[in-house]
Amino acid sequence: MTQTALDILKTRFGFEHFRDQQAEVVNHLIEGHDALVLFPTGAGKSVCYQLPAIARAGVGVVISPLIALMDDQVRHLHARGFSAGFLNSSIDGQAQAQVMRSAERGELELLYLSPERLLHPSTYAWLQGIQISLFAVDEAHCISQWGHDFRPEYAQLGALARDFPNVPRVALTATADGNTQRDIVHQLQLHSARRFVSSFDRPNIHYSIQVRGRDFVAQLQHFIEQNHRDDSGIVYCLSRKRCEEVAAELAASGLPAKAYHAGMPSDTRKAILHEFLYAERMIIVATIAFGMGIDKPDVRFVAHVDLPSSIEAYYQETGRAGRDGLPASAWMLYGNQDAARRRSMIEDSGGDNTDGQTLRTIAHGKLNALLGLCETTECRRQVLLGYFDENTPPCGNCDHCDAPPLKMDVSTQAQQALSAVYRTGQQFGAAYLIDVLRGSKDQRILANRHDQQSTYGIGKDTDTETWQAVFRQLSANGWISANPDKRGALQLTESARAVLRGEVDVSIAKPSTTAKPTQKKRKTLPEDIDREQFDALRHTRLELADEWSVPPYVICGDAQLFEMLRDWPQDIDDMACIKGFGASRAEKYGDHFLDTLARLKV
Ligand code: ADP
Ligand code: MG
Ligand code: ZN
Repeated sequence: MTQTALDILKTRFGFEHFRDQQAEVVNHLIEGHDALVLFPTGAGKSVCYQLPAIARAGVGVVISPLIALMDDQVRHLHARGFSAGFLNSSIDGQAQAQVMRSAERGELELLYLSPERLLHPSTYAWLQGIQISLFAVDEAHCISQWGHDFRPEYAQLGALARDFPNVPRVALTATADGNTQRDIVHQLQLHSARRFVSSFDRPNIHYSIQVRGRDFVAQLQHFIEQNHRDDSGIVYCLSRKRCEEVAAELAASGLPAKAYHAGMPSDTRKAILHEFLYAERMIIVATIAFGMGIDKPDVRFVAHVDLPSSIEAYYQETGRAGRDGLPASAWMLYGNQDAARRRSMIEDSGGDNTDGQTLRTIAHGKLNALLGLCETTECRRQVLLGYFDENTPPCGNCDHCDAPPLKMDVSTQAQQALSAVYRTGQQFGAAYLIDVLRGSKDQRILANRHDQQSTYGIGKDTDTETWQAVFRQLSANGWISANPDKRGALQLTESARAVLRGEVDVSIAKPSTTAKPTQKKRKTLPEDIDREQFDALRHTRLELADEWSVPPYVICGDAQLFEMLRDWPQDIDDMACIKGFGASRAEKYGDHFLDTLARLKV
């Protein structure tokens, strides 16, 4: 008798129910059809291909760009009782032969491969000789140059449709942008695949975006101390230097922070990544590239101290928080220089041909949209989901829902700013122009005789922060742009005319920096959970993790620890009833937790 999908979910994965559309995807694939799965990060895409791979005869071939993580992924699968292996350049011939033999014998349930390895003629020929249950292309957005992690090798995966016509194929991604979707379908030949799209909302993530003040590390520290003192998180910075500085400052203040970026030796990087995966409490300060495919479910916050490139990138990066469904924070700072810096990065990319020009134009548009999200006075989630064509009422779980920003009409300032840009010859950046508007006696201004200009001192009643917000809003709406040929000097665009003629109202959120923190202190633990008891169970989990050489979250999630403190299991059978724990884990790890619980009861 064959097991039903739900049986497998319970016995092998330890989950009680399928989430959302998982069951539909799973059954569709078990029946041998193709699928395109567009679920947000943390939705549980892995189950969608792992379970059918187990249910069907043969080995499930998973194509993933993350060679560095395959090792970890496969070890975690082992710890959970799956038969899995991987082939990539990092393992020796003997280990490889072993994996291949067990696949040939039909003993392997899951085989992880990089696209390069899969397409290698000898591997490809070998695959044609064994039984394959399905192909899963994970992080499938890597196929598209519209996406943000373009990997040219992915483009050749279309051959699978031709050479393995009877093997179901599933592509999975958390990036749902229309161009990317079309590319995936086209390149992987998934025209007849059924599409599974779920809401992109991540209701457990609290969104907050603030203006970056002079001492932004203090802002960051304050945010972490207030909300995530005992948690793990990722801090994103634009440059390596910045990573180093921020990590050092956080560490100096007693937070467990470490830098991680491409400029570090690969051994060091590997060690830090490992430490992060295994830690209960650690902060990684990384460049934007870090984190793809990291499925550490208990990342409690993602903080950006520099602006990402687009809403897609922001969404993908913040999506690494709270995969376990428990409350998490996405917190971002942005400042005046960010847009200018991003724009010059865009101008330096893409080449001189029309393609390059098009890509740059798109990139500018995406950046403007992100700035629009930063500058909005509406609910963040509404704007964010609106960008992905989803409507939602105000969410009640973002900074603007917590404390609606006061709107401030700055139409007059906007006109003054534009005219200052124009009258100083479109040669300067915002800082200088603000000095002009505020009537500064700065040497440069006097030397340039800009104190003779009609805009000199015209805006001295408006403070510098407000001026900066006005300039940001002008950039966000594309009324001014940075001229890459003049090192980012601001220039007027065509559309600025309408503002100058007073045909457009301009408003901003009343600026606020941490001087008066707008962020309410957020609860990190549910109300009915005692911090000390929770920490004791956490400690036990850490010991178990150590013993089994897996990260703590492989043992179980925080949600299971909460359940233990609520249900207070007395024996292994009770333990097996803890949601998301399951019989096999209760068997393996239950005793330790029971000991701790007994100790706590005394
Ligand atoms: P994605 O690849 O979509 O970002 P993952 O497959 O890594 O997400 O899953 C995210 C988290 O959700 C993991 O911790 C996983 O164990 C958990 N999860 C997945 N499916 C279920 C389910 N049906 N019930 C409970 N937890 C689940
Ligand atoms: Mg995934
Ligand atoms: Zn909201």
